[in-house]
Amino acid sequence: LKPPRLGRWLAAFPWAVLALTIHACAAPEPPPRNVLFILVDTLRADHLPLYGYGRDTSPNLQVFARGASFFSDVRSQASCTFPSVNSIWTSRSPGTFEGQAGGAMGLPAAVPGIADLLAGHGFHTVAISASPIVRKNPSRFNPGGGFARGFETFDENCLWHKADCVSDRALSWLHPDPRPLFLYLHYIDPHGPYAPPATYTHRFALHPTDKDFIRRGDPNPIANWVYKGAPNPGITAADIGYLKDLYDDDIAFFDSQLQRILTQLQANGMAKDTLVVFAADHGEEFLEHGGVKHCHTLFETAIRVPLLFRVPGTPARKIDGAVQNLDILPTILDYLKIVPSPQLEGHSLRALIDGSAPTSPRYQWSAQGSLRSVADGHFKLILDTATKRVSLYDLVTDPGETRDVLTAKRADFIRLRDALAQWRHRHEGSGGDEAEKKLRSLGYLD
Ligand SMILES: [Zn+2]
Repeated sequence: LKPPRLGRWLAAFPWAVLALTIHACAAPEPPPRNVLFILVDTLRADHLPLYGYGRDTSPNLQVFARGASFFSDVRSQASCTFPSVNSIWTSRSPGTFEGQAGGAMGLPAAVPGIADLLAGHGFHTVAISASPIVRKNPSRFNPGGGFARGFETFDENCLWHKADCVSDRALSWLHPDPRPLFLYLHYIDPHGPYAPPATYTHRFALHPTDKDFIRRGDPNPIANWVYKGAPNPGITAADIGYLKDLYDDDIAFFDSQLQRILTQLQANGMAKDTLVVFAADHGEEFLEHGGVKHCHTLFETAIRVPLLFRVPGTPARKIDGAVQNLDILPTILDYLKIVPSPQLEGHSLRALIDGSAPTSPRYQWSAQGSLRSVADGHFKLILDTATKRVSLYDLVTDPGETRDVLTAKRADFIRLRDALAQWRHRHEGSGGDEAEKKLRSLGYLD
């Protein structure tokens, strides 16, 4: 059809104009071209204003959230970096990664990770990791490395460095390129020791106590007391308060460096076709339940994490249904139109993000050492498989998990207990306890 004839034809049939318009509106969005995955190690959801915190620790994340889908009820699969990050990258339970030969922490050969999958679909895959665990090469904390498979570049120059290092190096990769980019950034600012850079002006840690290790933001003397039988170093509420102040300043410093990444993404036009994921691998404890640091419990302090997706062309939305870090990979693959393996344990959150389906009730699973937990957005059951001790918490009326309601809420207890037993059977078989014994014998779970 030549244009004049098409024009006459459309004028004669106005319904055709309408039909063409409807068709254009209904045309599916093209898949995002790039993926930027920002993971903040040790970031507790409840220390972000987005999750109700009274302090403004993350003003730039707040602005980012205005254009993103924000999940309010998210659990990580473990309270340790390994295997929480492994679970995020592969959408498999922690049991998949425990008990590897020689205590290896990296991705097992038979389990594809996100970088493998995206590299196989033509993505230029780059990681910048400040973590001593999420490594290509061996480190003191991860003697086997093993996280670099699928990445063309795995940059370890920022090991233990603060967010300015990760953001500096990330900016050099964030530019339009003929190849789609998968950029994974692993920040560790809120991980102990809690110590923002000397150049940073404290916003929250303003009243140090008289102990040197507290002023340095070092929780290890407390950990030695709690977990290793060392004498109590005379810890006061003010000491813990100051550590939390420093932790908040670490979050605020990270947030200032997040802004540099988001600004460049806008400035160079990549924001319009880049899927941005914001996640954390676990939280941190400050004696709320008698412990410090992480890797020790499955309380909310340790496993309740933030999760946001910014999908180009999709309006911002707050989503309250129970989801988990296992869902991150299936969601990314869904948006990229990559068919997921049936072995992925998580579910795509795309319909929730797009607003095309309501939340369906799901369980959130976590495992750490001998502990297992299952939550459903209202109740949470924690089982210690070593002592067989079980507790049930009502997260709605008691988010601090201070009252065991196992006896009062018998029906919910039985429902979650049976669900957990089935999950353990499916994902741990009879080998679950053996894997734990092995890790314990290697000293990893102390
Ligand atoms: Zn971690």
